[in-house]
Amino acid sequence: MAGNWKMFKTAAETRTFFEAFRPLAAAAEHCEIVICPPFPNLAAAVESAHGGRIQIGAQNLYWEKEGAFTGEVSGPMIRAAGATHVIVGHSERRQYFNETDETVLKRTVAALEAGLTPIVCVGERLEHREAGQTKTVLFQQCREGIARLEERKFSRIVIAYEPVWAIGTGKTATPEIAADAHGVIRGEMRARYGEGAAENVRILYGGSVKPDNVKSLMAQPEIDGVLVGGASLDAKSFAAIVNFTS
Ligand code: PEP
Repeated sequence: MAGNWKMFKTAAETRTFFEAFRPLAAAAEHCEIVICPPFPNLAAAVESAHGGRIQIGAQNLYWEKEGAFTGEVSGPMIRAAGATHVIVGHSERRQYFNETDETVLKRTVAALEAGLTPIVCVGERLEHREAGQTKTVLFQQCREGIARLEERKFSRIVIAYEPVWAIGTGKTATPEIAADAHGVIRGEMRARYGEGAAENVRILYGGSVKPDNVKSLMAQPEIDGVLVGGASLDAKSFAAIVNFTS
C-alpha cells in the first residue's frame, strides 16, 4: 500500500502525519506500507518512520549518479537519505515534464542500481480508453519500458497501473476495469518473462482509491495493492486504507 504525497506537506507536517499514522497502522501486518513525500521531507519521514515498518520512497529520480544537472536528484542520494522505494513514470511526470517510455526505463534502471525498489507507473489517458486503445497503450508502455529490463532486474520492480482519467478526479476505475487492465499488463509480462515472474510481480492499482472503495478493489485477485494520492495525505484515511479487511 503506497502513498504518493505529490507536492504536499512541509517537514513539520510530515512529522505530525507520522505521529498520528504510526499507531493507527501498527496492526496492518498483512501489507507493506510505503509513503512517498517530496524530496525535502525524505529525511523527516525516514526519521519519523524509524523503528517501525513503514518504508519511505521518493517520487522521482534522475538516472545519472551525480553531475551538473541542476535541480535533479539521483538514486544514490535518495538511498543515502534512507528511502527504499521510488515512484517512476507517474502520469503527472509524463504529462507535465515530458517523460517518455525511454526516460522512464532509464530511471527504473538507475533506481535498481541504487538499491531502490522502483514503483513503475503505466496507464492510459481518457481519450485512449474512449477510442478503445487501452490495451495498445499499455502494450506500448510495457514493451518500450519494463519489458526491456533483464529478467533479474524485472523481479525487483513493482508496477502501478494508474489510468490517467482516474487520478485525482474522484473517478475510480471499477474493480473489474482495473483487474482487466492488470490482466493485460501481467499477460504482457508473462509473454516476456514467463509464468513465474509474471505471477510474482506486484501490480498496484492507483486512481482515486479511498477508504470506501479499497476493499472492492483489493477483492480482485489481479490487484496486489494500491497507490494512493489524495487519500494518503490524511493519517486517518490512509490508515483506513491500509487496515482494509478482506
Ligand atoms: C496518484 O497520485 O498516484 C494517485 C493515484 O492519486 P489519487 O489517489 O489522488 O487519484
